[in-house]
Amino acid sequence: MTEPLIMLDKVSRSYVSGESVVVALDRVDIRIMAGEMVAIVGTSGSGKSTLMNILGCLDRPTAGRYRIAGRDVGSLDMDELAELRREHFGFIFQRYHLLAEMTAIGNVEMPAVYAGRSSTERRDQASRLLHRLGMAKRLTHTPGQLSGGQQQRVSIARALINNADVILADEPTGALDSRSGDEVLRILDEIHAEGRTVIIVTHDMAVARRARRIIELRDGVVHSDRPNHPDTAAAAADKASTNDAPAPRSASHWWSAMGRFRETLRMALLSMNAHRLRAFLTMLGIIIGVASVVCVVALGAGSQEKVLANINGLGTNTLEIFPGKDFGDTRSTKIKTLVLADARALEQQSYVAGVTPTVSTSSTLRFGSIEASAQISGVGEHYFQVKGTQLAEGAFFDADDVRSYAQDAVIDDNARKALFPDRAVSPVGQVIIVGRVPCRVIGVTRQQTSGFGSSASPTVYLPYTTVQARFLGDPTLRSISVRINDTMPTDLAEQAVTGFLTERHRTKDFFILNTDEIRRTIQSTAQVLTLLVAAIAVISLIVGGIGVMNIMLVSVSERISEIGVRMAVGARQSDILQQFLIEAVLVCLIGGGLGIGFAVGFGVLFNAFDVGFRLIYSTTAIVIAVVSSTAIGVAFGYWPARNASRLDPVAALSRE
Ligand code: ADP
Ligand code: MG
Repeated sequence: MTEPLIMLDKVSRSYVSGESVVVALDRVDIRIMAGEMVAIVGTSGSGKSTLMNILGCLDRPTAGRYRIAGRDVGSLDMDELAELRREHFGFIFQRYHLLAEMTAIGNVEMPAVYAGRSSTERRDQASRLLHRLGMAKRLTHTPGQLSGGQQQRVSIARALINNADVILADEPTGALDSRSGDEVLRILDEIHAEGRTVIIVTHDMAVARRARRIIELRDGVVHSDRPNHPDTAAAAADKASTNDAPAPRSASHWWSAMGRFRETLRMALLSMNAHRLRAFLTMLGIIIGVASVVCVVALGAGSQEKVLANINGLGTNTLEIFPGKDFGDTRSTKIKTLVLADARALEQQSYVAGVTPTVSTSSTLRFGSIEASAQISGVGEHYFQVKGTQLAEGAFFDADDVRSYAQDAVIDDNARKALFPDRAVSPVGQVIIVGRVPCRVIGVTRQQTSGFGSSASPTVYLPYTTVQARFLGDPTLRSISVRINDTMPTDLAEQAVTGFLTERHRTKDFFILNTDEIRRTIQSTAQVLTLLVAAIAVISLIVGGIGVMNIMLVSVSERISEIGVRMAVGARQSDILQQFLIEAVLVCLIGGGLGIGFAVGFGVLFNAFDVGFRLIYSTTAIVIAVVSSTAIGVAFGYWPARNASRLDPVAALSRE
């Protein structure tokens, strides 16, 4: 005689609720041989379901010993119990417990996913089982589209797919009309005839009488255990085993893990699709957070580029020397010590590549009968290039003009409007009188729409030599700009120039603007600002993450019964954890993707309007946004997912 498949030795199960202890099973001894068909009967509350849960390794006895196929269940951890469920048991529930968003075939396949079988193999066998159970035309129906009897047949197929040797059916006909009930019982007879062990829990003696053995429970105690001669299907009883296929164990651990991951991903997408609006609202926090991080960084980079381009216009390694102590020094106009001779002397220094003095005064312009007062700027030939000034017509003066004290003038748009109100007359080539000096207009600058130095007063640009000689008479300069040799660091050059001029003037009555220094200052200021705003955006990302956590908690508590079913068919704790984590990460990743999309869209819009600078997207910012939204999904999804994976399968299953 071989050893029984199932051995219960003095198994007790008691529930502690508050002060009182309910003993649901009291020292139960049962032995069931492989291939038996047993009915467990008893009135409601007699302990049938409790016994069933212990038999199916969903629950553990509080005392006594349970061995299945020689393995002692008491010493096993949750994942080992899950493995036993996958290998030995198929569950059939009174309320079917199918997953609503999956098709019939998807439901049947599910236990095979956790067993790590390949998708074609799963699909083939699931469809074969459904065909055999008369469900050939319902493979892609969801449970909502099936009758009770049909749903129960799907759940029977699900119990069979891993080729379980023990089928546990808890009131399988309890929710069915008598015809569907009979059909289900006939299928169970067939399953038994294949050589499987079938254990049916029922309170209905008519159902119990189809079994070969009836165990009656009363108040948690085995009241009777007697053989029965079934009314029907007796002939089929001793047929040889015709199992569909041996349950193949997964070929490689890695492959089966990959397959489970793919399935989990598909499930997560399905469940997100089922709650589209909710998923989108959850994502909104992530979308806004990611979009603002990416936009802020792009704005920062763009505006910084613009400002730096302006500064670079001044020329790299250029020093600007002004009289006075600083900008806004009221005495600066009275200081007469910054003179042309300084500029000439600086030009001789070894570290100086070029020197351009500027001077300024004001005077009256005359053309024909028209008079206007104007600002006269004496500048070098590089001035316009450095300032980024553009011409409406004509040309700028060149180095020769500067050297030869040329009386060539470039007038700005304001001066043109004042002197040449008739648009049809081109000012270029005309001679105007500046003060008492006749000058030929050689160029007209474009109207400046914005930026520093735009004003309504007319300005005339002349070579500084001309202004110096014809207007000022004295050699005082408004400023000197010094271009430094490339080999000389500007900081050192600034020190040298300061020392040199201080010695010449015997006092420091000037100040120097170092464009490199300005650039550095602007860069660091822009970085600080970008960081600041990015920090605010990060806060919104965290708020988004909390939203994700909240929704995941809701989702877990809504799907407790689903989690119970998954555990019953053999899902490991890690499978459940993975499922909910993937869902959280997906929400965040899709949200992150949409956020980046919105940010880039905003950039396209922004760049379409000419604001003066463009948005510069950095791949780093985008990569960081994606990585951080994934991290948020993991960080804020972990706790709800862990809660889900730690659920007690029995408690989860009993939740409706
Ligand atoms: P049956 O399935 O035969 O109707 P059960 O096995 O469900 O009976 O329950 C047996 C006894 O155990 C009942 O008295 C029931 O109240 C009690 N019981 C079942 N589950 C719990 C639980 N989770 N907590 C406390 N008592 C329980
Ligand atoms: Mg019950």
